[in-house]
Amino acid sequence: MHNKKIEYNGHSSVISIADTCPHCGKNMEPHQVANLFDSPSGIALLTFRCTISECMKYFVLEYADSSQYNPGNLVNYQYNGAVNVDISSNIRKLSPIFRDTFIEATIAEFKNLTNITGLAFRKSFEFLIKDFASYQNPEKVEKIRSNSLNNVIDMFYKDMPKIQELLHIIRRIGNDETHYYREFTDIDVKDLKKLIYNFSLYIDMILNIDEFSEKTS
Ligand SMILES: [Zn+2]
Repeated sequence: MHNKKIEYNGHSSVISIADTCPHCGKNMEPHQVANLFDSPSGIALLTFRCTISECMKYFVLEYADSSQYNPGNLVNYQYNGAVNVDISSNIRKLSPIFRDTFIEATIAEFKNLTNITGLAFRKSFEFLIKDFASYQNPEKVEKIRSNSLNNVIDMFYKDMPKIQELLHIIRRIGNDETHYYREFTDIDVKDLKKLIYNFSLYIDMILNIDEFSEKTS
């Protein structure tokens, strides 16, 4: 956050403004485009344009407690809600930490944070694998949590060979995101996300079966 001198209704004024662009997330000094003061509500709407050459997108900021001479105080907007993440209620309940990490990874993807997106999806995957294994083996929770991802897949998913194959594929793609040199050049973070999502569909199905099996027994 920093102070910026602007033109406001023909007067020079100083406002508080974020250091980064809400679209590309980069540090920049925005270009002021227009302003609008709504007298009844005491709200000023200021339009800016990002000055990063690959972005150049417009954004509007809301200032409250405004007058005709003073734009007032910046209202903080959260744009993260714009990210649409499709995680079932079963999965949200099973592993809140997977949910949180997967949402953060999706936000990173949305913001084009290419160096951390894959790592975040890889991390979310580890939580999901371990929390589902813990759900199916409640007496071994500590062993599952402290073991490596590779071991957990080998030990706790051995009765589901096709799922186990999927998990090892995801693990290898996820690990590739953490290495200096890439092993898989034609696979990207979208594939990683899709495969983790496929695994979550499988878990969702099992949780549904367990729920309705209990209800009908
Ligand atoms: Zn921008």
